[in-house]
Amino acid sequence: EWKESVIDPSQIDKYLVDGEDFICEDTIKQQIKDGENPSDEYIEKIIQKALSVHTLAPEETAALLNVKSPQMWDKIFAAALELKKKVYDNRIVFFAPLYCSNLCVNNCEYCGFREKNCTEKRVILDSDHIKRETRSVLNEGHKRLILVFGEHPKSDIDYMIDAIKAVYDVEAEAPKSGKLANIRRVNINAAPMSIEKLQRLKETGIGTYQVFQETYHKKTYSEVHPKNTLKGDYHWRLYALHRAMEAGIDDVAIGALFGLYDWKFEVMGLLYHTLELENRFGVGPHTISFPRITPASGSDLSKNLPYQVSDEDFKKIVAILRLSVPTAGLIITARENPELKREVIKLGCTQTDASTRIGIGGYSDQLNQDKQQFTIGDPRDLDDVIQEVLKEGFIPSFCTAGYRCGRTGETIMGMLSHCVEGKFCKLNAVLTFKEYLYDYASEETRRLGEKVIEKELKEIHKEQYFIDHPKLTGKFDQQFHDITI
Ligand code: SF4
Repeated sequence: EWKESVIDPSQIDKYLVDGEDFICEDTIKQQIKDGENPSDEYIEKIIQKALSVHTLAPEETAALLNVKSPQMWDKIFAAALELKKKVYDNRIVFFAPLYCSNLCVNNCEYCGFREKNCTEKRVILDSDHIKRETRSVLNEGHKRLILVFGEHPKSDIDYMIDAIKAVYDVEAEAPKSGKLANIRRVNINAAPMSIEKLQRLKETGIGTYQVFQETYHKKTYSEVHPKNTLKGDYHWRLYALHRAMEAGIDDVAIGALFGLYDWKFEVMGLLYHTLELENRFGVGPHTISFPRITPASGSDLSKNLPYQVSDEDFKKIVAILRLSVPTAGLIITARENPELKREVIKLGCTQTDASTRIGIGGYSDQLNQDKQQFTIGDPRDLDDVIQEVLKEGFIPSFCTAGYRCGRTGETIMGMLSHCVEGKFCKLNAVLTFKEYLYDYASEETRRLGEKVIEKELKEIHKEQYFIDHPKLTGKFDQQFHDITI
């Protein structure tokens, strides 16, 4: 009964073209096959197209998927970082996930929260508990949260709205400075819903709305998401972000759960999803996520995977996504271990989480860390991860200004494609990171951080100097020295 009250077939059918969706499996498979043995010259051409900040065509991504030469992969990896810096500068944005409930009516085979997993104790956080969790996350220094909801009548749209308001209500004193801090942006990971409900979410003041398709391969999708469950409806999920766009939520996030089916097919699925959103709404996904399946409590499937993705292939996935969709943010999460995260961040990632606790109530109570939706590989505190990122030469950012200033959807994507957002955001990264250093950072992080800020400020001044003095070259260092003195 509840399924019928949730899924509105008219909000699927309107997007189909001649009854067909935008994932044509035969075409994708043929394109991957046709892309075999690409010449080095063709790959170089594709890299140059990506570096000029253009979304790749499916045939081009298919060619990248078929590269075999290690030398060519080195070029692709280098281009991925170059492109990231060109579009997003060298910022890494930090966030924390907050799991509100592990009640779920679905039975996804790979998930510890699935309804039939009797080993799982069910918990749903009330507003007070969500505020406690928010305070703990704030104490780490986060400014950006993603609220994660299971699909269940108890975590319906009213519950979600109350949870978002509870987060925004909290003010907590920063431990070092005593300054009051709050969460400035709440993103949402929630089940697909109707346009009417999405409009209510939008009115509450959310940032990005995430729905991951998990797998774009229909047969696999139906095998791991039983038909009689809400999530069993492939199309209700495939068009979730179309409905979000129609509801006015123009920052949407796509993702696939790698390990369910052939990774090459899933990369193509993500590209086709991007192209569909770009063609239909003029704006692609704000971010793309590419989690790999990790073992979950009570799930056999997550331990026996025919399509498990190796670390080597995982790096290829990230670099190909970077080149294929230059304007999308790429999120590497704490599912992965610190060593791999360190490598993958250098392949074009723009966001990561830290101090992550995915047990329900895990931040304030340290509850349920052994019973989780999946396993995390990087449990380090935010301060530790920030130190590492600084040592790699990136600047951590806690900026949420774009969302408050209306730089969302088409506006931000336009700025990104003209490579001006990175420069714009560099200032905000410096400001918000400096704020973090004073309010939360350890002595060592502050020492490392000040050095990186000095370098960033120099770059900002340098850029401005050459804008102000277009005919001058080579005199910047002396000028910068004078400014800083
Ligand atoms: Fe529920 Fe999501 Fe887990 Fe599926 S993956 S069982 S929808 S919480």
